[in-house]
Amino acid sequence: MDIRKGDRLVMKKKHPCGANEMIVLRTGMDFKLRCAGCAREFMIPRSKAERSVKAVSRPDEGSEGSEGTEDTEGTEGGRS
Ligand SMILES: [Zn+2]
Repeated sequence: MDIRKGDRLVMKKKHPCGANEMIVLRTGMDFKLRCAGCAREFMIPRSKAERSVKAVSRPDEGSEGSEGTEDTEGTEGGRS
């Protein structure tokens, strides 16, 4: 499965907050995901991530490599 940073993943299971979409913050051996509902961030192993993803939606194909492509509900690094 082709999952990239900035993708929005539709998960098979809902997060406890009720959202079933996760935003990919980082890929690699582990994926770093942020819940689109509650903005919680967590790491899960790639194999587990791939099993739990139902669909990948990539709103903006063709802007690969740029930092600011993900939707910003709660900007990364904006914590005080
Ligand atoms: Zn959540």
